[in-house]
Amino acid sequence: MSLLEIKNLQKTFSTKPDLLARGLESIGLKTNTLPAVQAVRDVSFRVEKGEVLGLIGESGCGKSTIARMIAGITPATAGEIIFDGQNILDQSSKQAQTAALDIQMVFQDAAAAMNPRYKIRDIIAEAPLFHGRMKSSEVNDRVAEILEAVSLSPDFADRYPHQLSGGQRQRIGIARALAMKPRLMICDESVAALDVSIQAQVINLFMDLREKFGLTYIFISHDLSVVRHISDRVAIMYLGEVVETATKQEIFLNPAHPYTRALIEQNPSIKNRQREHQPIEGEVPSPLKPPSGCYFHPRCRSVLASCSVQHPALQTISGTHQVACHLYNAIESYS
Ligand code: SF4
Repeated sequence: MSLLEIKNLQKTFSTKPDLLARGLESIGLKTNTLPAVQAVRDVSFRVEKGEVLGLIGESGCGKSTIARMIAGITPATAGEIIFDGQNILDQSSKQAQTAALDIQMVFQDAAAAMNPRYKIRDIIAEAPLFHGRMKSSEVNDRVAEILEAVSLSPDFADRYPHQLSGGQRQRIGIARALAMKPRLMICDESVAALDVSIQAQVINLFMDLREKFGLTYIFISHDLSVVRHISDRVAIMYLGEVVETATKQEIFLNPAHPYTRALIEQNPSIKNRQREHQPIEGEVPSPLKPPSGCYFHPRCRSVLASCSVQHPALQTISGTHQVACHLYNAIESYS
């Protein structure tokens, strides 16, 4: 059994009526219904115990919304999130509520989630005390242990967030997640705001913690070189959908989806130096009005006649390598 299985997950955000529309509605006049934004459309994937799944995509592709739904911060519109056999969206189940606490998130801006008036000890101990995962009598010892696990001295327990550097604050963000004794950590652009040298240290820390605590990770980043370094498997997202998923080796050595290829070519640190740098043409379409057929077709360099009409489904092209692209239907039909 996979540690996490996402089944047909969807998130639709309704756009709020503006002041004028609300005023008109209050006096009984009808206004045009505003369109809903489908941020995540029918996404399914699994994460095995001990694995690192990298989730990649441009800004607005839905990767952070997926993370927030898994972490229980944003409610899902439809679908299932099965963690250790429990559908954690079913909050009427006590077992599901307990399972959900085993999932913790580390954000890009760790300081934003810290009360500036709390000492680090209180910041780390707050959630586990509230959820009964730490006793008051063990706070000092547990906080000291956790600080050491993130390579900070126990003295940091008496400091305030403003007394820390960016890298130290990020370590406290990790410590706070660790204090809940999680089994799955979701890291959403967790190293994006750090200097390159600090970034490397924090990535190495994530890997050490994986060994030490048997953690599983979903690692979200727009930076392909970071994902390549840290992940076992990778899922590529475009406009609310997974368009390709495979092992790290398959994604980076043999990318199948034209979008994945374009992302890899665009990335200066890992692009093939013999090829010319070719940025992805065009803008990411608005999720309010996605293109017909394949959502990537207005930007795709391999576009076929059917691409603007038919939406491609995710299909297996070899082993665990799945891709949503008509190029692979065409190959099948010619063979
Ligand atoms: Fe390009 Fe067509 Fe494949 Fe979409 S389905 S990525 S437009 S070739």
